[in-house]
Amino acid sequence: LDFLAQTDPEIAEAINLELQRQRDHLELIASENFTSPAVLAAQGSVLTNKYAEGLPAKRYYGGCEYVDRAEQLAIDRAKQIFGAAAANVQPHSGAQANFAVFLALLEPGDTIMGMDLSHGGHLTHGSPVNVSGKWFKVVQYGVNRDTERLDFDLIRELALKERPKLIICGYSAYPRTIEFDKFKAIADEIGAYLMADIAHIAGLVATGHHPNPIPYCDVVTTTTHKTLRGPRGGLILTKDVELGKKFNKAVFPGTQGGPLEHVIAAKAVAFGEVLKPEFKTYSAQVIANAQALGEGLKQRGFKLVSDGTDNHLILVDLRSIGMTGKEADRLVSDINITANKNTVPFDPESPFVTSGLRLGSPAMTTRGLGATDFTEIANIVADRLLNPQDEAIKSDCLHRVATLCNRFPLYPHLKIPFPV
Ligand code: PLP
Repeated sequence: LDFLAQTDPEIAEAINLELQRQRDHLELIASENFTSPAVLAAQGSVLTNKYAEGLPAKRYYGGCEYVDRAEQLAIDRAKQIFGAAAANVQPHSGAQANFAVFLALLEPGDTIMGMDLSHGGHLTHGSPVNVSGKWFKVVQYGVNRDTERLDFDLIRELALKERPKLIICGYSAYPRTIEFDKFKAIADEIGAYLMADIAHIAGLVATGHHPNPIPYCDVVTTTTHKTLRGPRGGLILTKDVELGKKFNKAVFPGTQGGPLEHVIAAKAVAFGEVLKPEFKTYSAQVIANAQALGEGLKQRGFKLVSDGTDNHLILVDLRSIGMTGKEADRLVSDINITANKNTVPFDPESPFVTSGLRLGSPAMTTRGLGATDFTEIANIVADRLLNPQDEAIKSDCLHRVATLCNRFPLYPHLKIPFPV
């Protein structure tokens, strides 16, 4: 950063301030994480200079022998982690990965079936504001009103009635295990393609802490930066080599140009880390911590969607304390906790207001916090939300957040050249 501070102090300062923010906040956004210094180094490397349209050993540009090495390692490691026959590591993001799959498997006007956004689905699974909702006929399923879990009788009924060409499972705000085998049985009944978007849970799948969709699905997409703890990016996996070739073409030249080889190298580094035994320990701790957070909040009288979690996130239903997600988001952000408001199933509020708060454990688990620390976080959040007007409690919460942040330093090797 010293070079940067000299050549572009304004950008250097923005980066310094962001590092400071990451250090002194409790990061509870379920889709975020802290990559390792090795991942940061690969991403900030000279590989950003290289054009490499095509695939390893089949490029449209010269001079690709070294980026080929890095990309081939990323592909091989991704296949090894998930037990896939083919992997494309080039999608710039999760949304790009999904878009490429749609291009490969669908024609405009086809019917797709995904989870309603307000029940935990993602924008790219058929939202009217996304290309998936504009170009395809969308049928949406939700969770059961009583259990707030997937209801396979309802999903099957809808699938038989609407006969989508593609069924999408995998979500942004679903705290429970996804039974891919049940989706596969429904997809087989109507001859639909089955896609799992495991953006959120990929790290848990990688270590066997969540069932692996590869054997059941035609295609699996993911981001690489959430529980997988890599650089920001996307990934497409399949057990079917022929389909894999279609996805390769759909990524390039279908929807992207030159791949980001510096990001791909960083993906390879992250995948290498995922293959180490420490990552398995990390992944188990992510779940234990989310459960400790959930239990702690339940002890303080909060209601959780589906009454708990099997994975890395919880969804707090704030209707029982008469608060909106927007208000809760603001209250926790005042005490240096970063989270996000989120709709709960059958939410009476708009997506800008919402009745829920989504909290996740991946990032703070990376910093080293354990289950008792997450119980303390639950108590901090509860103290703040249950006493929104109390300034003494607010400063006590701020102090307790700072204590946790100081106990678990983030990127201690990074120096801040600017006084901030
Ligand atoms: N799919 C799911 C389930 C997600 O939760 C997300 C992001 O939150 C995405 C796809 C999109 O990923 P990206 O933001 O990298 O485009």
